[in-house]
Amino acid sequence: MARVALVTGGTRGIGAAISKGLKEAGFNVAANYAGNDEAANAFKAETGIPVFKFDVADPAGAEEGIKAVEAALGPIDVLVNNAGITRDKMFHRMTWEQWSQVIRTNLDSMFTMTRPLIEGMQSRGFGRIVIISSINGQKGQAGQANYSAAKAGVVGFAKALAQENAAKGITVNVIAPGYIATEMVKAVPEDVLKSKILPQIPVGRLGEAEEIARAVAFLASDEAGFITGSTLSINGGQYMA
Ligand code: NDP
Repeated sequence: MARVALVTGGTRGIGAAISKGLKEAGFNVAANYAGNDEAANAFKAETGIPVFKFDVADPAGAEEGIKAVEAALGPIDVLVNNAGITRDKMFHRMTWEQWSQVIRTNLDSMFTMTRPLIEGMQSRGFGRIVIISSINGQKGQAGQANYSAAKAGVVGFAKALAQENAAKGITVNVIAPGYIATEMVKAVPEDVLKSKILPQIPVGRLGEAEEIARAVAFLASDEAGFITGSTLSINGGQYMA
């Protein structure tokens, strides 16, 4: 029986590549999204992967969403906590709403998504949890105090959860991507990309979402059982944590 994987924010950008990569690796995949039905339906039509709409920042919604996924596909073996947002502002101008939206979606979602699943993984003696952090959680980024705080926070969460569950067949790992060529990054003007961004990346190019997806598929595999509590930087050498 194929293992079941749930990817939050799995219908667009890096998450879509992760969903597709896990499907190619033989997982039975469910992709969650927040509200962009058009993108989700196009993703479903293209990949055949079922999509589930719920807000990972809402504890009740997340619990209901997880129930719906498990009713459709069976118990979830692999959770990829990928959904994330930015609300950038210099901290002295940041509003409480900008702070808390990012903390809720990027950090509170570790609780809302993982808490309903962890006991099932424990009782079945197998689980893979992969969390998508960011280079900006490792090095900090001006204009992103909220995002950097949340993305650093998930690393502490992963290490604690990894220790609690190491003897139970459950691994918890973090991937910290650098600049990845998603729509958001591709929208940056060519001259800014060439003069400001690429010079910071020793490999000399942006990363591809598929490069993150391949690492997720490896960490999700049965073969990766000795890797837990780790953070894998995938950033073209931009920051060596
Ligand atoms: P995108 O903005 O392209 O896609 C975000 C996905 O997350 C969408 O499917 C979106 O759903 C979903 N989503 C957002 N908020 C919620 C929510 N509250 N509940 C459920 N789903 C939600 O993101 P990226 O691919 O750029 O980023 C993916 C992850 O990678 C994020 O955690 C991000 O912080 C991280 N990252 C990205 C980098 C980059 O270069 N792009 C670099 C480093 C880290 P919908 O389509 O409905 O809006």
